[in-house]
Amino acid sequence: NQISFPSSMGNPRITVATAWLDGCSGCHMSFLDMDERLIELASHIDIVHGPLVDTKELPAQVDLGILEGSVSNDHDLATAKAFRKHCKQLISLGDCAVNGNVPAMRNAFKLDAVIERAYRENVDLNPQIPVDGVPRLREVVLPLHGVVEVDLFVPGCPPPADAIYYVLSELIAGRTPDPNQLTRFGA
Ligand code: SF4
Repeated sequence: NQISFPSSMGNPRITVATAWLDGCSGCHMSFLDMDERLIELASHIDIVHGPLVDTKELPAQVDLGILEGSVSNDHDLATAKAFRKHCKQLISLGDCAVNGNVPAMRNAFKLDAVIERAYRENVDLNPQIPVDGVPRLREVVLPLHGVVEVDLFVPGCPPPADAIYYVLSELIAGRTPDPNQLTRFGA
């Protein structure tokens, strides 16, 4: 897919929303690892939603959505669909989003067996299966593109900060990031 925000379209700032689905937050940590380059990026992008900012409502229209993590439960699925609906472009960030990675390791087992193992067999004190307040686990863990269309994949566990910076700086410049270039950064 083509992914770009041509500066010629009079789009001086890019709004960005992020979220993590079934991930460890390491991809977001890699985002922060851009360090001083974040100050440069702040001149061009507004982060309007996600764990890096206080605002928790996803605006109706966002230029760029960035999702970390796989789709493992109903809340992940709802978030993925909301991002696809409200974001013009959607990036699948990190191996959990790109191919399922660690969360998808449970796909080798039946969901009932996974739940039994996690909440009863390995628990010494008051083993119990949670029924309230947690999203329902889905039978099979899927990568992000298994449930919604994705415009750009940025692999890696986590993706290197240099790869994330490359993607964002290309978009800010009005260019389409070249996925083949990501390997330059070890992604
Ligand atoms: Fe964590 Fe790696 Fe998954 Fe990112 S890709 S959420 S760093 S396990």
